[in-house]
Amino acid sequence: MEKKKFAVIGGGWSGLYALKYLLEEKLDARLYERESNLGGVWLYKERKGGVYQSTHVTSSKTYLHASDFPLPDETPHFPKHDQVLEYLNSYAKHFNLWSYMHFEYDIIKVDKGRDDQWQVTFQCDGKEIKEDFDGLVITTGQHQTANDLHHVEPFDRFTGTTSHSISYKKPDDKIHRDKTILIVGGGETASDLAVELSTVARRVYMSIRDGQWFQESLFGDQPADILFPKSFGFFGLYNNILTKIGWTLFIRPFWGEGGTGIAEWKPRCQLFHGFINKSRGVVNKVASGMVIPKRQINSIKEQLVTFDNEEKPVHIDHILFCTGYRWFHSFFNDNFRKETKIECLYQLIFPVNLPNLAFVGSTRPVFGSIPSLAELQARRVAQVFSGRDCLPSPTNMSIWLQKYWKRHAQLYPYEGRLQQLVNQFEYSDFLANQLKVKPRLWKLFFSQPQKWYTIYFQSPWTPFLFRMNAIETNDEKLAYSRHLKCIPRRDQRSLLIK
Ligand SMILES: Cc1cc2nc3c(=O)[nH]c(=O)nc-3n(C[C@H](O)[C@H](O)[C@H](O)COP(=O)(O)OP(=O)(O)OC[C@H]3O[C@@H](n4cnc5c(N)ncnc54)[C@H](O)[C@@H]3O)c2cc1C
Repeated sequence: MEKKKFAVIGGGWSGLYALKYLLEEKLDARLYERESNLGGVWLYKERKGGVYQSTHVTSSKTYLHASDFPLPDETPHFPKHDQVLEYLNSYAKHFNLWSYMHFEYDIIKVDKGRDDQWQVTFQCDGKEIKEDFDGLVITTGQHQTANDLHHVEPFDRFTGTTSHSISYKKPDDKIHRDKTILIVGGGETASDLAVELSTVARRVYMSIRDGQWFQESLFGDQPADILFPKSFGFFGLYNNILTKIGWTLFIRPFWGEGGTGIAEWKPRCQLFHGFINKSRGVVNKVASGMVIPKRQINSIKEQLVTFDNEEKPVHIDHILFCTGYRWFHSFFNDNFRKETKIECLYQLIFPVNLPNLAFVGSTRPVFGSIPSLAELQARRVAQVFSGRDCLPSPTNMSIWLQKYWKRHAQLYPYEGRLQQLVNQFEYSDFLANQLKVKPRLWKLFFSQPQKWYTIYFQSPWTPFLFRMNAIETNDEKLAYSRHLKCIPRRDQRSLLIK
């Protein structure tokens, strides 16, 4: 029988994971990427798109390891973009993926082919090529199509210059130097660019419409995001009694309301019920008057911008939109676009009405990292596409979707645009359950209680958890020892398995 053929569209972090796990299932899989190299957003380009010159990751290294290929020991907690790219290249080499990747293949159309197949139209070397596949994995990322608001009210009345962070590479003498800049948005790019531009601009204003939760990137010399032990996940990491106590006793007195104490940025949502910005460095710039915090924009007249509850407008030279990206796939027709909206993806991966199609890299955690969840999604897709597991009927998938989005609306009431938002602990456990790769904590509790205690109370969430099982085989022991290496501030040597 002829082997089934699968295509992975997009050669970023998620694409590598998707390819690796399809090949591991002995499927005939190929990856197609429109750039001349792998890396996705981490492949630095002088032109629009991807990282800027000073980009470093804001999720700590702990959340970025592949579960079976850790980042090198010498990689810093928050590596720069070139170190991430180097890691992705070494991942491809380690798992022999290079010969399955095709570069400078721009996918321009995806349509239904013969016999339930998908027909993909590539543009390559100036030619159009059509090829049929039994299944497609879309890994084109969430950071390709800018949500640029310059034509949207009230920004359409602004007569100064505007740009979106997708085009930003470094401070520019013409656009930024000695200018008054307004940054719109409250994400990590917004705060990192506010810090960077405050050193060259006359003044930087930063407007966050609904306020924003901020979290320190470091506690002492350790990344703050690794201080949540796995046991925290037991409480769902939502606004429950435990988080309320933690917030009242520790966060508010030390870091202030919303993690900054800045009234203009006071978040509308409760802690863990909206995205958490891990680039809190901007707060120091606010303290030194180099960045001026603002809430929503009330009106714009030519270059005069009036903010919420203020009468006096501010003269702005340039607006930099750090307003995120849109979930958009240019190669789909309108009908497929409707069917592949994030709201239509069962488990945020499989479009209910389009069989043999899957998305990897489609979620964004409240805190944590996109790639760590993409790896589990890739494992799940490989499990389904290989036939080791099958999906429920479309009716049952629709019922799942209804329940999921009802709960999502209750959990994240102010994140209407960021539908991809998930809780890292919860979503990873959910996928791990499907894959049957959750650490067997009950078994460990009885058989190796010290390890159970370490995993549950002393160590952070890591991707290695999903290779550990009950820590019996050599591979599982290796995963456990990698996990232990991520424990903050302790003598790990005594815990390592010989
Ligand atoms: C400045 C910046 C900082 C970030 N920092 C973090 C962080 O700290 N932590 C974190 O978790 N995430 C971060 N991200 C998000 C980042 O997108 C993810 O970490 C991760 O790289 C996503 O990988 P991906 O493969 O899903 O998507 P991408 O990296 O976007 O890769 C998608 C690939 O698909 C290709 N493609 C798209 N359309 C087509 C087509 N039609 N035909 C062929 N190929 C196509 C693109 O060229 C690209 O190579 C950051 C993003 C940016 C821009």
